[in-house]
Amino acid sequence: MKESLRPTSTDYLSKIPPEGILTSGELPPERWRLIAQSSLYNLEQLSSSNTSLVRELEEYYRQIDAKLQLLQEPVGLSPALAKHYLDRVASLGTEELEGRLLTTLERIRRETHSLDDLAASGAWALLLKEWAGKHLHLPMVIYPNHDPLIPRQLCKGYDASYSPNFEVIIMCYNLPSVRETWETLVTQGVLPRAISLLYHESTHRLQHSLPQRLMMNAPLISLGPVIFSYNYNSAIRLAITLAASGLVALSPKFSKNDLILGETHARLATANLPLSSHNAGGEVINTVVALYPDGPATKLKALRAYKLIQALHLLGFSERDIGRLVQKDQWSAKAETYPRCQQAVEQRFAALGIKGKEEQEIILAAIRIRHALELLVNRHQAQAIASEELQAAARW
Ligand SMILES: [Zn+2]
Repeated sequence: MKESLRPTSTDYLSKIPPEGILTSGELPPERWRLIAQSSLYNLEQLSSSNTSLVRELEEYYRQIDAKLQLLQEPVGLSPALAKHYLDRVASLGTEELEGRLLTTLERIRRETHSLDDLAASGAWALLLKEWAGKHLHLPMVIYPNHDPLIPRQLCKGYDASYSPNFEVIIMCYNLPSVRETWETLVTQGVLPRAISLLYHESTHRLQHSLPQRLMMNAPLISLGPVIFSYNYNSAIRLAITLAASGLVALSPKFSKNDLILGETHARLATANLPLSSHNAGGEVINTVVALYPDGPATKLKALRAYKLIQALHLLGFSERDIGRLVQKDQWSAKAETYPRCQQAVEQRFAALGIKGKEEQEIILAAIRIRHALELLVNRHQAQAIASEELQAAARW
């Protein structure tokens, strides 16, 4: 991937991957400047150049130098130095390492926007629960590694999954340890991979409404007397075991979401998460097509889903908003689109005063590039804060 990001032609815009995901240092500052100039030029040609969104984007691109300068400042720790500091802090006790991590994450959350989406998804609270033992009302996370009652086959071929029937996220990985989280933050400016997986599944959860989940649970109601003779945890485990063994219909057809649309949303959400270590976003379409083949229209569906979800994201819809649209949308073979998502994109453009397909594409491209740069800035800031905090903790 690195090779393809080194522009050889003047078409710099096409070198930014569709999700705007880059890793630090993949595009040198002079390339970014050319991209910014090109975006600015395109924006100035628009007939809707008077709208507030276009003015805001132009302003951003005029002030890009400060961002590029920030990215030039060296941050982070080498793995060896990180180990040295972590050993020192850990010698004071694991509570010290954990307490300092929570303080650091709180500071990253306060001073940057890089944890906003994680917090909104509920995944953040799950992590706090895991690390700090805070008891919160959340979907359960089950770790098959620890739990002999969870059928092993649920993890065959999956890293994690969400079951709307039982309101459960099943992680086939353990959540990262405090130490692992410190390490990836200070050496790479990202959170461990398992957190990206948890976020992906939390996004699927946002695609299911409460009535929908209740409908999907209908087959379980008949099992009520059996289930409620156990305590809640045992009931959930029993339910999963029954579902896995085919005794319970997992998803009655009437309440099913469109799989291609839902999976595209969850994958793009993860790709767009600032501190995600799992954002090889360019693969989304191919992966979704391979996972959910659905006749001759599969590729077209995946392409449409991708464009629409990414447009919604770039136009400022939250993952929760997008989740609600995904929940109610079904592919229209006649219109060859997902009508609700399509309508939401069109309405947002109309509200912003931006008309015409061509203008809309130019604006989406300009937001996408801003998004890519902001992602790098977020990681840079998070890495800087984490390194500073770890060094300070080790200085005693
Ligand atoms: Zn998924």
